[in-house]
Amino acid sequence: MVVLVDTVSASQVRPRHPEKVNRPDALSPPKPDWIRVRAPNTRGYADTRKIVKENGLVTVCEEAGCPNIGECWDKKHATFMIMGDTCTRACAFCNVKTGMPGALDASEPEHVAEATFKLGLAHIVITSVDRDDLADGGAEHFAQTVRAIRARCPTTTIEILTPDFLRKDGALEMVAAAKPDVFNHNLETVPSRYLTVRPGARYFHSIRLLQRVKEIDPTIFTKSGIMVGLGEERHEVLQVMDDLRSADVDFLTIGQYLQPTRKHHAVMRYVTPDEFAGYEKVAYTKGFLMVSASPLTRSSHHAGDDFAKLQAARAALSR
Ligand code: SF4
Repeated sequence: MVVLVDTVSASQVRPRHPEKVNRPDALSPPKPDWIRVRAPNTRGYADTRKIVKENGLVTVCEEAGCPNIGECWDKKHATFMIMGDTCTRACAFCNVKTGMPGALDASEPEHVAEATFKLGLAHIVITSVDRDDLADGGAEHFAQTVRAIRARCPTTTIEILTPDFLRKDGALEMVAAAKPDVFNHNLETVPSRYLTVRPGARYFHSIRLLQRVKEIDPTIFTKSGIMVGLGEERHEVLQVMDDLRSADVDFLTIGQYLQPTRKHHAVMRYVTPDEFAGYEKVAYTKGFLMVSASPLTRSSHHAGDDFAKLQAARAALSR
């Protein structure tokens, strides 16, 4: 069974999700046998945790209660979440704290770069909370972080997983100009579920954002992901694949949604490993360079290995 490690809420006084506390409990079916993870108790896990804490960093691994934390941190793969631990959106699936965030920490880009160096990462994934409160949505801070990592760790490849920068003109261009190796923006779910699952976002805005990245710089790999088990139909998942291919997106991830608390969206269904394998097969036929679809697939899971495969797939195409 999955062990969701609550590494963040023990000392909270204010609820993490004030907008959700009065909601009725949403009950999910029991987890199936195929969702299994290792408990986070290895030496590598402890070392990673030490480096994260010493540099005062926030990780999405902890904040989202990611089930893969034991495996990833054992290999020193952590995904840093910049611009604080508080998000201005309140998506129904997400365990990141909601509320009004504090001011940006100007030293954070350097700290992230230092932690990347200490962890010896060949490939780093950086994500962030949504910062609708900032005029540029945090775009310049993102760009500064990419530049700081490039300066400290010139051989490390950089993957960013950004918010949608909705109504933030010029923000996307600012981030793309920093030339990350991979630009990831997750659609999270199919369009029919947006109002319930991701109410602050707009499906076609997110598609267009990914398309724009490729228009600005075709050398940047683009990537997106969805969760399944949120009430979507199979034909809707296939439509999402077509929409992403129309935007020239290279890499698709599909993983099982897991409910962080009973106040979050219920799991409507556990998609079987065979169905995931079917999605992966179809996605490759639609032309993605790289596809990862499995119950425990997450955007940043095995991101380094997958980046190498992505490069190889592009190289094979140009031969
Ligand atoms: S899958 Fe991503 S978010 Fe989850 S533990 Fe691994 S690096 Fe962190």
